[in-house]
Amino acid sequence: MTREGLLTSAPEPPFTAWCVHCGRRTAAPVEVGVMERGSSAPLIQYACPEDAVRYGAGPSPADVIR
Ligand SMILES: [Zn+2]
Repeated sequence: MTREGLLTSAPEPPFTAWCVHCGRRTAAPVEVGVMERGSSAPLIQYACPEDAVRYGAGPSPADVIR
């Protein structure tokens, strides 16, 4: 492995989202629901890993393998 290879494969900035339960920002958001907003795009709701358990988070539609 070369030095350049390491530099070019640097990870992207982590995706963060605010937890809908406690309001804290988490770097490991779990999708717990989708809020339909009529004519505009649906708003995806996230929770932190700890609170995601309260929502009984399981596989989201995006995770389902067909
Ligand atoms: Zn939370």
